Amino acid sequence: MSSDCIFCKIVSGAIPSKKIYEDDDVIVFNDINPSAKVHFLIVPKLHVESLLNCDSQHQALLGRMLLLAPKIAKEQGLAGFKTLINTGREGGQEVFHLHVHVLGGGEKTPKT
Ligand code: AMP
Ligand code: ZN
Repeated sequence: MSSDCIFCKIVSGAIPSKKIYEDDDVIVFNDINPSAKVHFLIVPKLHVESLLNCDSQHQALLGRMLLLAPKIAKEQGLAGFKTLINTGREGGQEVFHLHVHVLGGGEKTPKT
């Protein structure tokens, strides 16, 4: 737990989220600013900054996170999807708590 990390605060319940899945190790919730009709984030409960901070001790966790993508995507009605892991500031990462984006269902149409 990192006290100034927004995703740790979501894991602890200090900040609300639109949670769609949770187990002992992982939480999944909808992205607050979706880029697609379906856009959720797969987040480990353990605070790990990014893929750059992962090593062999995170292997099982990473595997579990990736396998949740098709499971939850199907539950959300998707027959296919994109996955994205922004890594490091130069990799476009803005929240420095590891997460996998899952996007599908077409681009979100802007509200008029
Ligand atoms: P990244 O650039 O990969 O670090 O993406 C961070 C993502 O977290 C962005 O798509 C944000 O919209 C999303 N995000 C930030 N704060 C929240 C929040 N409180 N609840 C849900 N998603 C969030
Ligand atoms: Zn964190």
